[in-house]
Amino acid sequence: MRIHSLTDWPPELQAAARGESGASRYLCPACNGGRSRELSLTCAPEYFSGFAIAKCWRASCGYFAKVPLDPSAKIGTPQFKPRFFEGELASQGDAVRLLMPYNIGVPALEAFNIRSVVGKDAVYMPAYGPAGQERGGMLRYFDGTQPKAVSYKATDQPWQAWLSSRISSAPCVAGSWVTPLSRCSA
Ligand SMILES: [Zn+2]
Repeated sequence: MRIHSLTDWPPELQAAARGESGASRYLCPACNGGRSRELSLTCAPEYFSGFAIAKCWRASCGYFAKVPLDPSAKIGTPQFKPRFFEGELASQGDAVRLLMPYNIGVPALEAFNIRSVVGKDAVYMPAYGPAGQERGGMLRYFDGTQPKAVSYKATDQPWQAWLSSRISSAPCVAGSWVTPLSRCSA
């Protein structure tokens, strides 16, 4: 969890953090509510701790911040910029063919919701947090594109994919997932 300064937030969130806003939901500063710009953020003071808590309830974002209510208690500034994959995904498509040489079969593709990218020799695997919330994903090219692996982090929360118990109980780090996954599912 990163702690930001209250003054880094837009004015409406600063008011919410001080308990001076009548609204119950706000525009998330990390994802801007996605394409529909939904008001997905809750933000309220937590007087016993002296912090304001903001949380985005969009599963694909998951922004969370705990900010000191005392503006002079400046602890840090946010560096994180969320990045979303915008390409078109096929249901499973060419992923079977692309991952066959790595001994990654249909059960693993289904367990991890691995999908191919329309028009490209590439596959995309979403990264999940321990409670199952999507936190972005990893794109892996098989057509020589460099870099061959690109991460799309939608949150500054810890970022791992967790293996389904159907495959293995061991966690799998998403950063370079093809090789670990081929071992797990072999
Ligand atoms: Zn958000």
